[in-house]
Amino acid sequence: MDSHRTSPGLLQLALPLPLPRLFDYRPPAGSSACTGDIGRRVKVPFGKRELVGVVAAINTEQAPVPGLRDALAWLDEAPLLSGELWGSLHWLARYTHAPLGEVLATALPSLLRHGEPLPDTTTWAWQLTAAGRASMETLRTGSRPRQLAEFLTTPRDEDTLAHRFEGWRTPARALMKRGLAERIALPAPRNGDLAEGPILNPEQSAAITALREINGFATVLLDGITGSGKTEVYLQAIADCLKRGRQALVLVPEIGLTPQTLARFRARLGVPIHALHSSLSDTARARVWAAAQRGQARVIVGTRSAVFTPLPEAGLIVIDEEHDTSYKQQDGIRYHARDFALVRGKALDIPVLLGSATPSLESLHNANTGRYQHLRLHQRAGSATPPEVRILDIRKRPLDAGLSPELMAAIRAALDAGGQVLVFKNRRGYAPVLLCHDCGWSAHCPRCSTPEHPSPMTVHSAGRRLQCHHCGYRQPVPPACPDCASLALEPQGNGTERIEELLTTRFADVPVLRIDRSSTRRKDALEQHFAALGERPGILVGTQMLAKGHDLPNLTLACVVGIDEGLFSADFRSREKLAQLLIQVAGRAGRAERAGKVLLQTHHPDHPLLLTLIDGGYHVFAAEELRERAAASFPPFTHLALLRAQGPHAEPPMRFLTAAREHLRTALQNMRGPLHLHGPAPAPMPKRAGLYRAQLLLDAPRRGPLHIALAQVIPALHALPEARRVRWSLDIDPVDLY
Ligand code: ADP
Ligand code: ZN
Ligand code: ZN
Repeated sequence: MDSHRTSPGLLQLALPLPLPRLFDYRPPAGSSACTGDIGRRVKVPFGKRELVGVVAAINTEQAPVPGLRDALAWLDEAPLLSGELWGSLHWLARYTHAPLGEVLATALPSLLRHGEPLPDTTTWAWQLTAAGRASMETLRTGSRPRQLAEFLTTPRDEDTLAHRFEGWRTPARALMKRGLAERIALPAPRNGDLAEGPILNPEQSAAITALREINGFATVLLDGITGSGKTEVYLQAIADCLKRGRQALVLVPEIGLTPQTLARFRARLGVPIHALHSSLSDTARARVWAAAQRGQARVIVGTRSAVFTPLPEAGLIVIDEEHDTSYKQQDGIRYHARDFALVRGKALDIPVLLGSATPSLESLHNANTGRYQHLRLHQRAGSATPPEVRILDIRKRPLDAGLSPELMAAIRAALDAGGQVLVFKNRRGYAPVLLCHDCGWSAHCPRCSTPEHPSPMTVHSAGRRLQCHHCGYRQPVPPACPDCASLALEPQGNGTERIEELLTTRFADVPVLRIDRSSTRRKDALEQHFAALGERPGILVGTQMLAKGHDLPNLTLACVVGIDEGLFSADFRSREKLAQLLIQVAGRAGRAERAGKVLLQTHHPDHPLLLTLIDGGYHVFAAEELRERAAASFPPFTHLALLRAQGPHAEPPMRFLTAAREHLRTALQNMRGPLHLHGPAPAPMPKRAGLYRAQLLLDAPRRGPLHIALAQVIPALHALPEARRVRWSLDIDPVDLY
């Protein structure tokens, strides 16, 4: 090995390891390194393993210390990461106080993370050569080569060939051998044939005009009731962006990325829509990433992690249903895709369009304070009118599977009028609790319960199976009570399964479909359910999954049952989430010509949240809620960070967090600006999947001091002896305090 290279430039690598530092290596033998190599991947030895690192810096100052190892090989010719995305990922590492290597591992598609080359994204096509065109007649009529030759008089891409000419490869090779056909690379279409959309109504047009006037970065909150035509505004804005020769990135919640949505985008924009979602293969993901990086992908539509797509020619970022909590990553690097999109939008100097019928309080606050432009769509588009919402007081009413006679009558009436009905219940399974009627025993998850905090198991499969919704633990329902041997074990409460069972017997004349995470594990299951139902009268029973995404023109009645527990939850965000859910479910009804109706069943008909929502609507609720958040110093009026720790025993997480608190106290002594520490304390759910959980909450009215303190302390936490016995994580702007 050549140890005499004169300051050859050492590689400082970000490695996918939970250590807050970069790692020095010499460049691969026979090569040198300069700043132009920043962002390139290299393979390196690490202990007995090999890792893929990314060059984060070049060190030309220090002489190599002895024992420094050589990197094994360059994996990219040119930097894989550069420009805006590279800068934004550094920002994310600083903001989350996470090692850059882990941030990069989160951001890169798994193939690239594992060192695979950037995949080929060329669209290949076949066409006849001049010779082929001239001597078509020499091919025997009706033969496969002749048929293919006739098909290839216009160039056909391989995708089309695969769909329209079965077994095309053999005759294609034969034609190529004789010099009659050739394979050519097609340029990616940058601009498609835009299809006409509906004529925009005045509010939609005003939104488009406002967007066209934006030059550079701005955040626009498109705040429009469900069915007000927000998607039409996105489509028009994307079409404008394509016309300017720019790329558009659209983020949608996991449930929102349906074939229906994609088909609508495809039909309108006339360019290929590159979809990024969790059921895509690793290869397909890497191809979309590469196509975007090469500027071939012009429109990318994806879920949370699509926010890491490179956009060298960016023109617009759209975030649909911006309030959706699925944008927040809940493990590993806990980024918020909406917030990161704003950071990228600013760095790219392009507008970011946030859309929702129920904007998050954070976004409304930003609109109120003038940081976001606020565009409202007050009316439903086309001929649809907003649904009528009514509360059904079920105190003292006889209930069957939690449904009142009035609700059943309303369902009957809606079906008889030829409409479809949605029954929303926020719990899947048959019943949330299994109770012994004789001694009071109930079934708890052994992996998620402590003596003080028992966690019930949900009854599934019409009472045959128990399942924990927190950790997935399953067991058969015991034949008798484990405590008193009584046979009087009874499922208590109602889940979607039990409601489905009841509705199936009561409304035997129509299809009853259940839509929840148990019934729609397969990705296309949801779409198939809807297709099976078609336009005929029928009932959909389901959870959140039903609340968004799919447009059912014939849905005339939405019933909301069993929301009462949500009215009294301790989590400060629960009211906001419940309000959003109710508005979204209500928004499913009456999306087309037929008027819609919403029935809210409750034991608390006078609950202020319900009254405010029904009388005033979401924005009146939100304004009140923001006042309360301000008074109580909750987000968005304060900024939170949550340090979590967990381990197989109860003590070590608390000990780790206590040590962390001491470090933070020390850091706080020489700091200006208030910052408060709460805890450590066991988490609201103190045990989960066999691990004991504790947390330390930090809050500060300003972000600056919070991040300064964390930046000082977090690196030290990695080295704490207490850290060895726990798994810990930091969550900036946590959405879930569990
Ligand atoms: P949102 O995204 O706000 O829920 P959509 O954009 O999906 O609303 O619009 C709801 C329905 O109204 C869709 O069927 C859409 O095609 C239709 N629509 C939207 N804008 C118009 C318009 N200007 N004229 C007629 N129909 C429209
Ligand atoms: Zn018992
Ligand atoms: Zn469990």
